[in-house]
Amino acid sequence: MELRWQRALEMFAFLGLMVSLLALGTGAPIQETSTRKKLLLVSFDGFRWNYDQDVDTPNLDAMARAGVKARYMTPPFVTQTSPCHFSLLTGKYIENHGVIHNMWFNTSTGQKLPYYNTQGVSSWWDNGSLPIWITAQRQGLKTASLFFPGGNATYQGEQVNIKRVEGLFHKYNNETEWRQNIDLVMKWFTKENLDFVALYFGEPDSTGHKYGPESEQRKEMVIQVDRTVGYLRQSIGEHGMDSTLNLIITSDHGMETVIKQDEIQLRGMANFSFQDIQFELVDYGPQGLLLPKPGKLEKVYEALKDAHPKLHVYKKEEFPERFHYANNTRITPLVLYGDPGYVIHGRIKVQFNKGEHGFDNEAMNMKTIFRAEGPAFKRDLQVEPFDSVNVYALLCELLEITPEPHDGSLNATWHMLRKSTGLVSLFNTPSQCFKRTGRAA
Ligand SMILES: [Zn+2]
Repeated sequence: MELRWQRALEMFAFLGLMVSLLALGTGAPIQETSTRKKLLLVSFDGFRWNYDQDVDTPNLDAMARAGVKARYMTPPFVTQTSPCHFSLLTGKYIENHGVIHNMWFNTSTGQKLPYYNTQGVSSWWDNGSLPIWITAQRQGLKTASLFFPGGNATYQGEQVNIKRVEGLFHKYNNETEWRQNIDLVMKWFTKENLDFVALYFGEPDSTGHKYGPESEQRKEMVIQVDRTVGYLRQSIGEHGMDSTLNLIITSDHGMETVIKQDEIQLRGMANFSFQDIQFELVDYGPQGLLLPKPGKLEKVYEALKDAHPKLHVYKKEEFPERFHYANNTRITPLVLYGDPGYVIHGRIKVQFNKGEHGFDNEAMNMKTIFRAEGPAFKRDLQVEPFDSVNVYALLCELLEITPEPHDGSLNATWHMLRKSTGLVSLFNTPSQCFKRTGRAA
């Protein structure tokens, strides 16, 4: 009798082990009770990958020792704020999510809206791709956006649970307000029990534009950013969230010094006339979108294609595939871009920034940062560069939600995670993790 009970118990234990292993194999969490960690995604706009190399950044350095630092991160093309942030939020290349420019425009009416107003045009953002806020909310999580690009739009009738939208004349460089924003985010996590918050800072982008990326003013601003990182990390500790919150600090693109000699100016180029253009979107950094009038495409193309050694002019269908940019109905028949440092002027000169972005995402000065720490991440690990379209898959993994279809892969970031080592990884490793491809198909 006793022996029979013992066998039964052994069998029971064996079955339990098998169930646990099966659970591992399917990726199901072993502990069913809430083990989900919270996640804070922070973007410091226009933080170039090497901005920490010519100023002291003790707080970013401490974060790197406590977590993961990528050597750099490659943004998608076109390296503009809204398009790049939406790639972070959707995991898609820009041609696949459709937020192809900071400015909403209508080629029929000629209307254009600046960056700030475009934040409020839901139809510009809600274009078939769901940002992670909405996906997470549909799976039972609570989320928020503080000034984050894309956070002001409505997606398929749904909005982010809590949002803050800056005013039209918002001062993006007020350090006191930065700390108040961090305090508010801490309150959201601890009092409102939010799972995911995306927090945006408009610097060091603004200072990089105004004074140039090599200026003393930019260095001062990076020191301010670093102080803010220190305040943020301290706040997380003071709120007892060191072991319950994962923190990612990243950005959308880098910054390049504008070259003021031999500038690209469309007006005055031989055989080119704005009379042949129905719609143009230029005077926005190095990027240009042109819709020639009916029958004028070849004429305009021929006039511009060899007009300036630093100007690249493509018919939409011939735009290099590596950019993953032009295959979208919102892209005009002609697409232009300038080499690093060269912005495109149209009818009259209205661009006077000393720093600019929007350039080729392979140019080193367009590369940006990726840092992470928290319970999910290994410590003191520097990883090789990866494309920012892969961040979305990581966010979904950290939040334990099922992603929407996307262009990235968890393989790009899997090795940052503590779970990538040990027994668990045998069962949970992403299927293509062992391929050394930089980019998912
Ligand atoms: Zn930006």
